[in-house]
Amino acid sequence: MPDADLERLSDMLAGAARVVAFTGAGISTESGIPDFRSPGGIWDKFRPIDFREFMASEDARREAWRRKFEIDPTLSAAEPNRGHRAVASLMRSGKVTAVITQNIDGLHQAAGAEGDRVIELHGNTTYARCLNCGERYELVPIREAFLGEGTLPTCKACGGIVKTATISFGQAMPEAALRAAEEATLTCDLFLAVGSSLVVYPAAGFPVLAKRNGAALVILNREPTDLDGHADLVLNRKIGDTLGTVANVN
Ligand code: NAD
Repeated sequence: MPDADLERLSDMLAGAARVVAFTGAGISTESGIPDFRSPGGIWDKFRPIDFREFMASEDARREAWRRKFEIDPTLSAAEPNRGHRAVASLMRSGKVTAVITQNIDGLHQAAGAEGDRVIELHGNTTYARCLNCGERYELVPIREAFLGEGTLPTCKACGGIVKTATISFGQAMPEAALRAAEEATLTCDLFLAVGSSLVVYPAAGFPVLAKRNGAALVILNREPTDLDGHADLVLNRKIGDTLGTVANVN
């Protein structure tokens, strides 16, 4: 990156009072988790199972859990990288007020970002929940019963269907997270979109909302995005090095 761009990003961060970091799969590729749209990733191996199918069919639920446990070794081996550490550091210093993430990998929290200020728009794949009563379940016993006896998880409290705590295609977005994301977006003065192709809605609506509300918009992504025309600064750069440098984090 030309030094002028790096300086501009540093200046914008220094001049901002409330920064929202909005992150997508690109921030986690340096942790070894493939992103969604780059070819050959684990995510494009399978046709997604949408929510209606998951609810309607035991076979679909079985297939969803089989895939989950096939993908899991990649996810559980992943550790936060320099980009996650930079975001966590900017949060600790009070610069970043909230992280809005499309990621489901829990790596912002693992890097030290405060859990209640990490807004997960698409849920979290590191645990499961009952779809009826919301009871939380850990994955280890579910995996043992599924791989051992082929048992599908059901809720011990209410008998409901248990699913990873992620949002599937066709599943309602989490209302509280959407509200929190909107509030953070409308109260920031700098919105930093990092590692997202900015095509998955409603998540991709937040950068434009921030800009329309008067915040500055920075897009940091290896490739151009459809929203580049709205941005005050576009950086087609590697995330870890860029954020690590401006946040002074290794
Ligand atoms: P995406 O795959 O559509 O876009 C990721 C973008 O990041 C790409 O444009 C790519 O060029 C860029 N990128 C990748 N590595 C980079 C790096 N090191 N430096 C700079 N740029 C880099 O991701 P999305 O917009 O987040 O949409 C994908 C959807 O799939 C999301 O809704 C998310 O829920 C889900 N998903 C999550 C994870 C995860 O939790 N880690 C991984 C894959 C997909």
